[in-house]
Amino acid sequence: MLLNAISGWFSMDMGIDLGTCTTLVCVRDEGIVLNEPSVVAVRKGTNIVLSNGEAVGLVAHEMLGKTPGSISAIRPLKDGVISDFEVTEAMLGCFIRKVHGSRGGLVRPRVVIAVPSGITAVERRAVIDSAERAGARRVYLVDEPMAAGIGANLPITDPTASMIVDIGGGTTEVAIMSLGDIASCESIRVGGNDMDEAVINHLKRAYNLLIGVTSAEKVKIQIGSAAPLEEELTMEVAGRDTISGLPRKILITSEEIREALREPIGTIVDTVTATLEKTKPELAADLIDNGVHICGGGSLLRGIDTVLANATGLDVYRVEDPISCVARGTSVYLENLELWKDTMDHSEHEWM
Ligand code: ADP
Ligand code: MG
Repeated sequence: MLLNAISGWFSMDMGIDLGTCTTLVCVRDEGIVLNEPSVVAVRKGTNIVLSNGEAVGLVAHEMLGKTPGSISAIRPLKDGVISDFEVTEAMLGCFIRKVHGSRGGLVRPRVVIAVPSGITAVERRAVIDSAERAGARRVYLVDEPMAAGIGANLPITDPTASMIVDIGGGTTEVAIMSLGDIASCESIRVGGNDMDEAVINHLKRAYNLLIGVTSAEKVKIQIGSAAPLEEELTMEVAGRDTISGLPRKILITSEEIREALREPIGTIVDTVTATLEKTKPELAADLIDNGVHICGGGSLLRGIDTVLANATGLDVYRVEDPISCVARGTSVYLENLELWKDTMDHSEHEWM
């Protein structure tokens, strides 16, 4: 205890949201200090990270799409699980050093990492090992929906139900929590990336137009929706004609993009209702008063709250700053480790 308190002055303890799209690091008293894409640039066919292991995050992202043949970019957490341990370790190490080093931390930091609740024991161990090898003194894992609940200020330790739907890039996590524990949860490998993919497929099928993922994401953010809009939108999008092979521009509408997004959104909605169906009646009843809280970048899609409200009959609230709430939650969790010790039981926790 005492040792931890003293070393806390010299080390820069941090909370990390290791997302499939973006990694955020939150530090006490400072808030979000790092916000970079979860991308690593490697020499093609190897695990060798470029620029002496520093081609990570924003630096690697810049290389994406413009990479010569010998370089490839890896998203090590593609579907919410660690697909490549060495690369994940390199990425975590780079981010931890960046935050710790730039703040003059002396003692190796304690780190809380939010992980998808669906990952296996082996994957949990791998995240801990990666972070330890990356320079952390001690590593604690917290389930992502818990961190989201804490970050969103939900009463997750109270004897009442709180429900979180976190729509990320590669995954969507749905969880109902009570008394500091997860009562029921579902994690699916469907998220914002699948919406981008749906936009690409639609344009290919309807117009023979090929566009990249970056353009597809722009379309989704600019005119995408899950429910009818008061004023429907249009947008010009450029790509390559699949028949002539030449560049071409077309005008698309929010109606057709909504239709294209129907499938991934339907899967997300079904997961939410399925989670409710397997929840104890008393907890489900609490949600009539407490509602459902949505977060993650995907929760910013227009009308997704309306669609979820219609499907569940519950009030749906988008949390404040939905993209950073998991990271903020990890930082609060770190400040209150002793408190969580009583309410949570995670085997990887080693208490001093
Ligand atoms: P992760 O936790 O998996 O890293 P995030 O919570 O950061 O993911 O969410 C990333 C996803 O959110 C991406 O698919 C991105 O396109 C999507 N997104 C971000 N902003 C918006 C928006 N305004 N509308 C719709 N989707 C969005
Ligand atoms: Mg996330």
